[in-house]
Amino acid sequence: MAADHLGRFGFDHSYQRLPSRFYAAARPATAPAPRLVAFNTPLAEEMGLPTEGLSAEELAAIFSGNRLPGDAQPVALAYAGHQFGGFNPQLGDGRAILLGEVVTPEGRRLDIQLKGAGQTPFSRRGDGKAALGPVLREFLVSEAMQALGIPTTRALAAVLTGEPVYRETVLQGAVLTRVAASHIRIGTFQYFAARQDEEALRLLTAHALARHYPDRQEAENPALALLEGVIERQALLVSEWMRVGFVHGVMNTDNMSISGETIDYGPCAFIDAYDPAARFSSIDTGSRYAFANQGAVAEWNLARLAESLLPIIDPDEDRAVERATTALKRFSPRFAANMLAVMRAKLGLATEEEGDAALARDLLKALHQGHADFTLTFRALSDGVRGDDPGFDGAAGCCIDLSAFREWLTAYRARLARETVPAFVRADGMDRANPLYIPRNHLVEAALADAAEGDFGRFNRLRVVLGQPYTLQPGTEDHAALPPQGEAPYRTFCGT
Ligand code: AMP
Ligand code: MG
Repeated sequence: MAADHLGRFGFDHSYQRLPSRFYAAARPATAPAPRLVAFNTPLAEEMGLPTEGLSAEELAAIFSGNRLPGDAQPVALAYAGHQFGGFNPQLGDGRAILLGEVVTPEGRRLDIQLKGAGQTPFSRRGDGKAALGPVLREFLVSEAMQALGIPTTRALAAVLTGEPVYRETVLQGAVLTRVAASHIRIGTFQYFAARQDEEALRLLTAHALARHYPDRQEAENPALALLEGVIERQALLVSEWMRVGFVHGVMNTDNMSISGETIDYGPCAFIDAYDPAARFSSIDTGSRYAFANQGAVAEWNLARLAESLLPIIDPDEDRAVERATTALKRFSPRFAANMLAVMRAKLGLATEEEGDAALARDLLKALHQGHADFTLTFRALSDGVRGDDPGFDGAAGCCIDLSAFREWLTAYRARLARETVPAFVRADGMDRANPLYIPRNHLVEAALADAAEGDFGRFNRLRVVLGQPYTLQPGTEDHAALPPQGEAPYRTFCGT
């Protein structure tokens, strides 16, 4: 019984029922000394995985790739992508291996993928490996996003391989087990479009619709229905990033999921002080993927999806372009509407007024000018609305330069006075829109630095606190605090 349990995950392999040019067989490399450093037990349970009762050694063997479930069919997926604006027709999973899909007891289909388990046919010159730091960063940040209520891939396990990986320095190798609604990207469509493979585009469209947009499957024009669906989900996703101050860092088209989940956590980070130009990736020298640019970049990426789908939207090119353009034009108003809804929630506005967008814009300007912490300022506003802090001193105290904030506060008070829903109800709503705990860069870095020395205490504490980002947790003041003063501008490096 136990052996059988260990042996099979109950995988289904719907992606492998697509033609073989969609993927390539891949075998995980052998990890010399796998050691489990993080495991997401609630996620494993939610997925119905047969991992209950397994020892850390057994889990390490499975999630390093050393011991594959008997029904795994490991493959690397083919895709292309625009990286920083330049098209690469041949990317693919160079350091990720899909083991298979499980269908959860609730009926959700989820990919299980090992990231960093060695080379695949798509590795090009890369080693297919991952270092401990980026693996733990993705673990923390993706699970924090989940707890924040934002669509995201999940982290199931992190395993040290016992092998060095060579980057600028020698680092410890690790494997992240990632769980995703699927790994189909805009770049997957671009891959087949670049090869003028209309059959593949049709099959991929049908597969993606069935998997992610089942209510659109019967549409008269499947490709257009898919495009519209992805536009809607991405307009929502990016507005949710903006709500919590998340900067993805590498919004290349190969890092944008068709399912609408946040995917590929590399040089991502959360802003501390509000700055629309905030960027964290050391390779994003043109600030293409800066915080306030993310809506425009999503739109640009969606245009690349639309282009890829043109031949199957309509055989008549002009008509196809016209229909795709009409669909794309919906992104901008949809995103603006989502952003306005986000800002109203953050400000505790239950009614809608013409001037709300301007009020929100003026606050952001004041925060920028005041070098104010984005998270803490918004969080403190609810105390003012609730009446616990009638002078809004908490929010004001987050600003280094107060002049613009004070002026804004006068307008805000006048606006609040016109609300009809009870203040305490709106204040509670604000606390569900404005997190107290985010994976602040200095906290993540400290956790990763300790972990590199073998001490996972900070990492584990951070995991727990970030699991309830909207709830004040006594004794965790340090996790909600500002970064130490005078820190150099934060940079993350590509998560390779
Ligand atoms: P990313 O920047 O993580 O989205 O990766 C961009 C592309 O580079 C993808 O095709 C990855 O599979 C590939 N890649 C990144 N790191 C490695 C690595 N260490 N070995 C092989 N391929 C890699
Ligand atoms: Mg990627």
